[in-house]
Amino acid sequence: MKKSDLPPQVLPEYERLQSRAGGKIQDAICRGSLPRVSTRYRSEFETIAPIPCVDCGQQAQTYDHRDYLAPLAVEPVCDSCNYRRGMAADTFTNHSEYWTRLGFAGFPETEAHSDG
Ligand SMILES: [Zn+2]
Repeated sequence: MKKSDLPPQVLPEYERLQSRAGGKIQDAICRGSLPRVSTRYRSEFETIAPIPCVDCGQQAQTYDHRDYLAPLAVEPVCDSCNYRRGMAADTFTNHSEYWTRLGFAGFPETEAHSDG
């Protein structure tokens, strides 16, 4: 499932959760409870933690969410692995009642059984 596959009535809430989750990670980095891994947006005095991408072992560049409703559950990944992982589909598969409550019953379609 890609973000562009989301129905228009779901996309704004998904993006709101995505933005909120990203903010929580930034807060955690600022508080020092998560190391900064990205070489982007840093001051020249900041150090970047040598943290490997959990998928390929290269320097991580970002924290990947699988579930934006679990905003602090992230894994460090490099950009290419982050892209390959795609959207945070667990935001839907782990929280069908959340989406049902918002009136998004029966969606989105996911390959729920593809990874066992
Ligand atoms: Zn990687």
